[in-house]
Amino acid sequence: MPTFEEIWARIEAENVRFIRLQFTDIVGHVKNVTIPVEKLEDAITHGVWFDGSSIEGFARVAESDMYLKPDLSTFAILPWERREQATARIICDVYTPHGDPFPGDPREVLRRALAEAAELGFGYQTGPEPEFFLFKRDASGRPILEPHDGAGYFDESTDLGLDVRRQMVNALQALGIEVEATHHEVAPGQHEIDFRYDDALRTADNVVTLRIAVKTISQRNGLYASFMPKPISGINGSGMHTHQSLVRLETGENAFVDPHGEYGLSAIARWFIAGQLAHARALSAVVAPTVNSYKRLVPGYEAPVYVSWARFNRSALIRVPSISTGRWQSTRVELRSPDPSANPYLAFAAMLAAGLDGIRRQLEPPPPAEEDLFHLDARRLSRPLELLPNSLAEALDALESDEVIASALGPHLLSRFIEAKRREWDDYRAHVSTWEIERYFEIF
Ligand code: GLU
Ligand code: MG
Ligand code: MG
Repeated sequence: MPTFEEIWARIEAENVRFIRLQFTDIVGHVKNVTIPVEKLEDAITHGVWFDGSSIEGFARVAESDMYLKPDLSTFAILPWERREQATARIICDVYTPHGDPFPGDPREVLRRALAEAAELGFGYQTGPEPEFFLFKRDASGRPILEPHDGAGYFDESTDLGLDVRRQMVNALQALGIEVEATHHEVAPGQHEIDFRYDDALRTADNVVTLRIAVKTISQRNGLYASFMPKPISGINGSGMHTHQSLVRLETGENAFVDPHGEYGLSAIARWFIAGQLAHARALSAVVAPTVNSYKRLVPGYEAPVYVSWARFNRSALIRVPSISTGRWQSTRVELRSPDPSANPYLAFAAMLAAGLDGIRRQLEPPPPAEEDLFHLDARRLSRPLELLPNSLAEALDALESDEVIASALGPHLLSRFIEAKRREWDDYRAHVSTWEIERYFEIF
């Protein structure tokens, strides 16, 4: 954690004028209040007041006083706002007026889950792979549903996003995020930026930062970046696969490694996988939390549909990437249901709780399913596979009846989350869509 003096030295060296204090609401939208740099010391000592009742899922009017407490380890100068109006951001924790962490703060929920892992001697590391689309804008600058290019997976000459992605990587690196790789994804206009795995709190912060950076850079290039899970039907949607591992806090060793185990996995890794499979349906509500998320989780588009795990098969919900010889320390498991509409703090907290439950109960996973599940009628398999929920409503039902995931979110946040998401579902359910008009209007 840098000291105030160290931060102040950077503020002076870069002539920073403003500090943007950021946090996220329960649905993962970034909120901020900007203070002139002269107010920073006071903000650190006393916190910054705001009205929690105006933030989605935070608090009711009667209990609305909240305070932001800047987490100085997240200080970063926004690379797109340098020069005379230079601005830095600091991500904050939310506190009540009594000085307690606010139970509705998604960052606090993840901190709590990480503390539980720490009690068992583990740290939780995640490496997310957020995908997104770049769309064009019309003459007046409004985003239109037309992909920016027609390129496909790893294409080079037709990839019109090369330069924009380079600018994004530069910005992310200036923000202290170590980018592993970027590439054009399968669908036209679709891209992916992978950053290095790290402690889950840090990577959740990084996901939020990446969304802002990607949107800002796109806008500066006359484009629109969307992290919507399935913006166009008939082609791939955007996922946020997340690679995960547990490290032993005492030794710093990867607890998932056992070179003699099947697939190089330790018992801890197998139990962790089994825990995530056991809670996969409830997890969906948190990692794929929008109505639109369930349009992505359908067969044929490289997104998971069944509750299964495998080594090679990319249609599995959990995949164990092959590790090249001698690199055992990078053993990890990839959960493929998350999409970039998730609140990353809540997603990682719920994923961790599921895995830890598997470890506590020493759950053994079922045998891996290597068949290509996309092109297969799972009901005809010798061992029938469970399906992921096929709608947000089904996922919310699963969440409400899953004590482990529900208690990872905590009663306060759970009730606000369910309330907000049920409202979203009811709104969708009552809406008459173009598909229905096209299908039924003239035939009935
Ligand atoms: N876009 C796919 C998804 O929705 C993932 C493609 C990939 O394997 O990276 O999950
Ligand atoms: Mg991808
Ligand atoms: Mg992946």
